[in-house]
Amino acid sequence: MFATAFLDIPALQGASGTVTLPGSKSISNRVLLLSALCQGTTVVHDLLDSDDTQVMLAALRQLGCGVQVEGTTVTIKGLGGQLSHQKAITFFMGNAGTAMRPLTAALSVLGGDFTLQGVPRMHERPIGDLVDALRELGCRIDYLGNEGFPPLHIGQPSLKLDAPIPVRGDVSSQFLTALLMALPLAAQDRSITIEVVGELISKPYIEITLNLLARFGIDVERQGWERFVIPAGSRYQSPGTIHVEADASSASYFIALGAIAQGDGIRVNGVGADSIQGDIRFVEAAERMGAQVTSGPNWLQISRGAWPLKGIELDCNHIPDAAMTLAVMALYADGPTLLRNIASWRVKETDRIVAMAAECRKLGATVEEGPDWLRIHPLPNGPFTPPAAQGQWQAASIHTYDDHRVAMCFSLAAFNAAKLPVRIEDPKCVAKTFPDYFEALFSVATAEVTQIPVICIDGPTASGKGTLASRVAAQLGYHYLDSGALYRVTAHAALQAGLSLEAADESRIAELARQLPVHFEGEQVLLGGEDVTDAIRSEHGGMNASKVSVLPAVREALVQLQHSFRRLPGLLADGRDMGTVIFPNSTLKVFLTASAAQRAERRHKQLISKGFSANINNLRADLEARDARDMSRSVAPLKPAQDALQLDNSSLTIEASVEQVMVWWQSRQVFG
Ligand code: C5P
Repeated sequence: MFATAFLDIPALQGASGTVTLPGSKSISNRVLLLSALCQGTTVVHDLLDSDDTQVMLAALRQLGCGVQVEGTTVTIKGLGGQLSHQKAITFFMGNAGTAMRPLTAALSVLGGDFTLQGVPRMHERPIGDLVDALRELGCRIDYLGNEGFPPLHIGQPSLKLDAPIPVRGDVSSQFLTALLMALPLAAQDRSITIEVVGELISKPYIEITLNLLARFGIDVERQGWERFVIPAGSRYQSPGTIHVEADASSASYFIALGAIAQGDGIRVNGVGADSIQGDIRFVEAAERMGAQVTSGPNWLQISRGAWPLKGIELDCNHIPDAAMTLAVMALYADGPTLLRNIASWRVKETDRIVAMAAECRKLGATVEEGPDWLRIHPLPNGPFTPPAAQGQWQAASIHTYDDHRVAMCFSLAAFNAAKLPVRIEDPKCVAKTFPDYFEALFSVATAEVTQIPVICIDGPTASGKGTLASRVAAQLGYHYLDSGALYRVTAHAALQAGLSLEAADESRIAELARQLPVHFEGEQVLLGGEDVTDAIRSEHGGMNASKVSVLPAVREALVQLQHSFRRLPGLLADGRDMGTVIFPNSTLKVFLTASAAQRAERRHKQLISKGFSANINNLRADLEARDARDMSRSVAPLKPAQDALQLDNSSLTIEASVEQVMVWWQSRQVFG
């Protein structure tokens, strides 16, 4: 997951390969609650690991359910419709609507002394219609803050279940879902009828609920979309084992990607055309816009069809979440796209109509909006620019409103014809449903290599390059290349192969370097599976590296390997010749220095802290010798690139150095 403050996505071009999607949020949380309410033990496979499911799991533990987590498999011992104890419990619901609504209903029917609260945004998301329906049937619920919104207190009910229970269907279908899951708990000796008031929105989500209720032994009788009858004698029963389908809304980003990107197309695993999720119908909308889609039982294959895409007009009531993706696809269309019947966007993680309009405008698009609709005009798409295009692509820093879907769908703006990068603020908000979304995107998306930014940090031994480079890499979510380690590993491999480190063995060392089976895992360096971290990190290892690094054939042999680190979304490279030889066109070059005395002192501290013995005078003599060799060698000598910015960190803290590099970096970005 990218836990950075922002993520800059370079201009993207193509896509090919396969992505496997995480389990659906809606299905995961329904299955968890049903497993908790039923009799028996349920093994849930492929559960989504996300903020929302964590919230639900924490609540179930608080209720006294047995919960065992092993990767994406969770085993739940059900309560059998009875709470084991009656002490007061306060539940923290975060911003997880899929936990808040059904738990409110289930707990109100079970009864107890419960408080449900969440983050400030959760306290702005309406729940009054659900509470009204629950009060109607005798539940005791009090508002602890504003009338109609969480936080709530739940007490003991005195249930009246003979008359039909009305619930509004036109605000959020989650209210009806919540009642459908709670009321079987009270239907032992009578049937219970729910009546929908107003037109039911998001019907496909209700179908998911009914489908899952059936898996847990409850066969709800549906009369149109107005009346739902839970038969007398209904009793939750564990299905034993259940698999969670992948999230069809998450699939929308990759379906769109396949439609937008050049290349062989994308395969999506985890969800197919036979999905029980309504958002799978996004496929039809994407096809209307030009996508070419084939599918099987648990997979989809998507490639570009019409280009530019075709502007469409669509009633999105059946695909409320996935429809946000259409708004970004619309930027690549031949004419305007009108998304209608999306009023539910206003009460989601954020007001999504406002958010989508504002961020599309930041990208340069013309957008019109109404109470329940959005019309997006396309932007120029290179040689295919349609006459309907209005405005120009602009580099935008996308605000994400703590809304996973805003973050994910705007990543697709990186395919713009103007080749501008897109900045996604607070990228970790995708954790709500798809923690590794950006990793999945970068695993299939491709960019022209020159579009992938590289920051070079060169400098002498013990100047602090490694620490600085890895910290900046962490702040930007970029990959990190410690090129010195490659020379160290090469020397190590050469010695192991019985070679000398002198010119006499140059071609044989180069041969080894060309096929170096080196692998980095965090701080660890593996050579052919063997951990060589300590062996190469010693002073001796540094000296040996310095010896092989003067051999031109060895340097040449390592070039390709170093270039291969330049991957999406970007690279921090540290060494001696990153800016001069390996990445001469990089975006930012820093030459880091510190006085020899300072560097010897730092190295001394570092070695002592790792339990090595060291003498500061010897260290200083060693590093001066290494500097002299690195600076005087004929190929790629250590020197600042002409366009490098010099940073003397003798009297700077590491934080101050990181800050300085970040300031330089930001000043070279296009985001203003
Ligand atoms: O940076 P580090 O101390 O790990 O580098 C070990 C040695 O590898 C350096 O002293 C230098 O001789 C060599 N090296 C190099 N070019 C690089 C990185 C390291 O010649 N890009």
